[in-house]
Amino acid sequence: MNSKTNSILIVGSGLAGSTLAMELAQRGVHVVLIDNQFPQSSSRVAAGLLNPIVPKGVRKTWQCDTLFPALYDYYTHWEKALDAKFIHRYPFLNLHANANETHEWNKQRENASMADWLSKAAPDDFNQLPFEDATWVNHCGRLDVPTLLSAVQHHFFSQGQYFTEQFHHNELKKSNAIWCYKEKEYDAVVFCEGIGVLENPWFQWLFFDPTGGDILTVHIPNLGATPRIIKQKQWIVPTGEPDIYLLGSNFHKNSLSHVPETSDAEALILRAQQITQQPVTLLSHQRAVRPTVQQRRPYLGEHQSEKGLFVYNGLGAKGSSLCSWLSPMLAEHILAGNPVNDEVDIARFNG
Ligand SMILES: Cc1cc2nc3c(=O)[nH]c(=O)nc-3n(C[C@H](O)[C@H](O)[C@H](O)COP(=O)(O)OP(=O)(O)OC[C@H]3O[C@@H](n4cnc5c(N)ncnc54)[C@H](O)[C@@H]3O)c2cc1C
Repeated sequence: MNSKTNSILIVGSGLAGSTLAMELAQRGVHVVLIDNQFPQSSSRVAAGLLNPIVPKGVRKTWQCDTLFPALYDYYTHWEKALDAKFIHRYPFLNLHANANETHEWNKQRENASMADWLSKAAPDDFNQLPFEDATWVNHCGRLDVPTLLSAVQHHFFSQGQYFTEQFHHNELKKSNAIWCYKEKEYDAVVFCEGIGVLENPWFQWLFFDPTGGDILTVHIPNLGATPRIIKQKQWIVPTGEPDIYLLGSNFHKNSLSHVPETSDAEALILRAQQITQQPVTLLSHQRAVRPTVQQRRPYLGEHQSEKGLFVYNGLGAKGSSLCSWLSPMLAEHILAGNPVNDEVDIARFNG
């Protein structure tokens, strides 16, 4: 593709499709979005937690030093463009379950490369909670993904460029290097289908390892006036409404089920009661499937032989932070031919 690209169809308006659409439109492309509005899509259910630290081994998440310095400015830019509020910074208190955890977190906190990311918590920060120690994880927050998605939908819908419908792959035809769908012509089509990619005939050769997960919306009293994220194995995330929190999540390997099960809600609630020592009341329970891939490296790029067909997928459990880096990267790749990062480029699977 090159600078003559002026019309692009995006299939799927989750986090990947919505942020890519904004990037392309900002560069002067006529973007059309098609989405079936599946209510249990990964993005519509996700908590949107922005967390730079992987608890296992207390290490930085992949690309942390690239992603986090620019993350909040990235979404603030789109907040202004879309006249909506969806990015929130919250303090993040990681509670230590035992002396081993305290030792591990303290050791990492003293590591110079972690100094900006971890801070020692004072006893007053957690003395109402039944834990002996805790660490603040810095630069954390929450992307309110449903609000971002609605704002992008509204933006393109008002210009006649957003269609709520199922995309049928067999109706996409190629003619003289132009892709045609329902009598409209496009220079390129980008598939941002999340787990819907399993139905995509052009990208069956990409391996997915779907992971189900539950999120509860709950009422918890007396957690303090200053909103903060609390984590001990599972997290408790403020929603912005008094005493209302998101609770999650868990990982159901190889599960494509979107049906919430009572036993999962009960386990999450019991753990939240143990962490907070407060009554936890369930308000709603959702289950979705993360588009997870092996080795946790997303899939970006153009089909090897079907030129003009692109994929943007495999965001796994980290879509909220990864999109801020990958969407501009893919836009520049489609429009200017700039290479995408080697670790995410689907060309890595070419024979
Ligand atoms: C329980 C849970 C908790 C999570 N928590 C977090 C978190 O705290 N932080 C974080 O960063 N990430 C989190 N994630 C992961 C995050 O949700 C994903 O990384 C991200 O949302 C994936 O976005 P996507 O656009 O690739 O896919 P999706 O969100 O699945 O979007 C794909 C879109 O395409 C549409 N679609 C698919 N096929 C078709 C078709 N044929 N026709 C029309 N439309 C179609 C779907 O309806 C959907 O709207 C969580 C995920 C789950 C399930």
